[in-house]
Amino acid sequence: MTDIPVLDPAKPSGPVKVRNLKITVDRDLCIGAATCVAIAPHTFLIDSEAKAIIINTAVQEKDTAIIDAARGCPVAAIQIEDDKGNKIYPK
Ligand code: SF4
Repeated sequence: MTDIPVLDPAKPSGPVKVRNLKITVDRDLCIGAATCVAIAPHTFLIDSEAKAIIINTAVQEKDTAIIDAARGCPVAAIQIEDDKGNKIYPK
């Protein structure tokens, strides 16, 4: 995966922090539907295993787009918390 600009190479699907958002993709749930990539293209990319990863341009994405991407995931594979550990999505 060296050619993909992941935000944290040790944890390509998170948890990673983008500003005050902690983003985690549950790779077991993710079905590679890529809805998240369509909604937040600076944040999500599909890797060679057809799982969503978080890329290093995520800081360019608005919080609302990142949260909307989590809402749009058909299998609710994206979890978002604030910096205090409160669940933003899913609630
Ligand atoms: S929308 Fe959900 S299932 Fe589809 S790639 Fe993103 S995280 Fe995976």
